[in-house]
Amino acid sequence: MEFRLIDRIRELTAQPRDDVRLGIGDDAAVLAVPAGQELVVAIDTMVEGTHFLPGTAPADLGWKALAVNLSDLAAMGATPAWALLALTLPRADAPFVDGFAEGFAQLAQPHRLALVGGDTTGGPLCISVAVHGFVPPGQALTRAGAQVGDEVLVTGTLGDALAGLYALREPPQDDAHQAILRQFLIERLTRPDPRVAAGTALRGLATACVDISDGLLADLGHICEASSVGAELEAAQLPRSPALRELHGEDESIQLALSGGDNYELCFTVPPPRLADALAALAEAGCPVTRIGRITEGHGVRVRAADGSELTVTMKGWEHFA
Ligand code: ADP
Ligand code: MG
Repeated sequence: MEFRLIDRIRELTAQPRDDVRLGIGDDAAVLAVPAGQELVVAIDTMVEGTHFLPGTAPADLGWKALAVNLSDLAAMGATPAWALLALTLPRADAPFVDGFAEGFAQLAQPHRLALVGGDTTGGPLCISVAVHGFVPPGQALTRAGAQVGDEVLVTGTLGDALAGLYALREPPQDDAHQAILRQFLIERLTRPDPRVAAGTALRGLATACVDISDGLLADLGHICEASSVGAELEAAQLPRSPALRELHGEDESIQLALSGGDNYELCFTVPPPRLADALAALAEAGCPVTRIGRITEGHGVRVRAADGSELTVTMKGWEHFA
């Protein structure tokens, strides 16, 4: 369909890589996997009205459609290389495509990621991106290796994106200070920065890793299930941004941190003897990190309040078809 649109996408996302033998323009791309590396692949779809609000800026969509995929590669400890883009558009909208490709390229460029092909069709607005990356053999981080006694850690801050979604739905704020705080939270929703450097730094150090797309409880729950263990978290330790704390207070910010999705931080486990190395590797990668609990026997995630009692979780994480 619409070759001018595809040409614009190709121009705006151009990224030279030796391992792309043939990129956009033929019936398929031809790619050279580097010798001695394993290929790691992931795909994620964003549907208007389900994953983003109608009227979201095209550049924000381009950024985020790639970001959520790079976050999956980060969670596996993979280095990104290539992407495919399937765009379904209600009409051949050149300004939309330009904005989308600009946002996509803004994130692709620092990761040296090449867009090597895709598909462009008509229909309700829907965006699928597939990404490909590399890890040394056997070194991919998975959800399955957590051991009883491991420390549970998380990068960055939690809960901002869900608070950003609330902020978008509220009427504009007159107070300039509050407006700045809200804007910070909204950008955490629209422009998540995938933790690619942190993911590769954790190779050989983390026993399990997941990226937080559904919410900390849900995603750490995936580690527990895959690893046949439980986890205990300290509510007071959950890293929360100053903006989240100021706008939502202590109790609500804890609930948002536990249940808020669309976060794209990494949650991972490390055996105590490797903790110092993991902290050093993340410091080297320039990534903030916080210890939030421990892996236990049993199953499921429990949260302890500051007074030692078990915390009741009042919000549910994101679930499709729920
Ligand atoms: P075909 O009909 O053979 O599948 P298309 O006309 O759909 O080919 O696509 C032509 C070329 O443009 C292919 O190389 C394809 O990968 C690329 N392409 C199409 N849509 C996109 C897109 N949204 N993003 C990137 N590349 C695209
Ligand atoms: Mg063809």
